[in-house]
Amino acid sequence: MAPSFNAQTGSFYAPDLETMPPEARLSWLNGRLAQTVAHAYEHAPAVRRIFQQAGLTPADVATVADLDRVPVTRKDDLVELQRREPPFGGFLGVPLTAVKRIYQSPGPLYEPEGDEPDYWRWAQALHAAGFRPSDIVQNTAAYTMTPLGFMLDNGLRALGCTVVPAGPGNTKAQIQMICELGVTGYVGLPSFLMRLIEEAEKDGVRWQQDTQLRKAFVIAEPFPPSLRRALAERGILAHDAYGTAETGNLGFECGHGRGWHIPYDVIVQVVDLNSGRALPAGAEGEIVVTLLTPVYPLIRFGTGDLSALDDSPCPCGRTTPRLVGWLGRVGQAVKVRGLFVHPRQLSQAIQRFPGVARFQAVVDRPKAMDRLTVRVEPNPDVDLSGQAAAIGQALQETIKLQAVVELVPPGTLPADAPLLDDRRTWD
Ligand SMILES: [Zn+2]
Repeated sequence: MAPSFNAQTGSFYAPDLETMPPEARLSWLNGRLAQTVAHAYEHAPAVRRIFQQAGLTPADVATVADLDRVPVTRKDDLVELQRREPPFGGFLGVPLTAVKRIYQSPGPLYEPEGDEPDYWRWAQALHAAGFRPSDIVQNTAAYTMTPLGFMLDNGLRALGCTVVPAGPGNTKAQIQMICELGVTGYVGLPSFLMRLIEEAEKDGVRWQQDTQLRKAFVIAEPFPPSLRRALAERGILAHDAYGTAETGNLGFECGHGRGWHIPYDVIVQVVDLNSGRALPAGAEGEIVVTLLTPVYPLIRFGTGDLSALDDSPCPCGRTTPRLVGWLGRVGQAVKVRGLFVHPRQLSQAIQRFPGVARFQAVVDRPKAMDRLTVRVEPNPDVDLSGQAAAIGQALQETIKLQAVVELVPPGTLPADAPLLDDRRTWD
């Protein structure tokens, strides 16, 4: 299932798969999924256990739609499984001799890297960011312990770029290399690129005259519009992307500012926090990933990140759906009467009432029963007393739970009050 060399692009990158009609892609993905599931069930004991516990055989999970039947394995579960069955928790689907490198990321979690040119699928993302075979690219992501450095290195090499494996730090030497080697591209953290630029300018480097660095691929931290503008002022066009250490590339910008295109060769779903079922486009939920690889076949891995899908057409011509961005962590959710409640859901419901200045949801447990109270503060001169029932209704629709709505006078809630405050004690 390794990507094959594409003579047309001169690289391990297949643009046809990005622009194929969605129905054709779905049938292609279904085929790869069935293959992956059959292989994983046979060779990865953890996958077989998950299927058996859910009463499933590989034949039951032959299409993307069938994935709803497979329970989500969350990052915490994976940490525990790896601790019990080191190093990969029973998810390795190939002999160890087929593993090129092993990384460790916080958790700790161990990630195997398969011996393929672009195992983590970054080539397509880097291509969308404008990287081409003639580029000399400074890779400032770390090459040690964690996978990002080699992930991006593999993707750049699969495209035919020349890589400068700089890693983080050593700003003076990095600036010297950028100037003297005629480096044309940057990959790494956006903040570090800005630091390099500021240091260089302090030393008298005029960025646009003295360097040829005009493209950047930034990742691993938020990329605020102000930073994007600051880079654009130096003539640098930057694209950002989303991924995880366990799963690699999960989404990337195409230049049209419409979110992150999902790579063509991985299944990325947005699922309901409670049921684990895939949600339609537009609905917020957890990003859940199914890797189509025999090496480390994570099937329905919960990233813990929140987003929503957008499947409207994109002017770039890619037909892959997009993630709308990073909307928070599942970890901020609190379980109330057995259901996850996330602060974002509360905000979504409350936003419908423009008279509300701020709110705070409090969970407590009088008489051994969870209680959710949403304290709502109006804007000055607004009377919300007629709207309490409607607010309660909006909350019920969004979080599927009944909440007590309590109207409080303006100035009651501190500006930094957490949106969701869990005050239950369990001793
Ligand atoms: Zn696009």
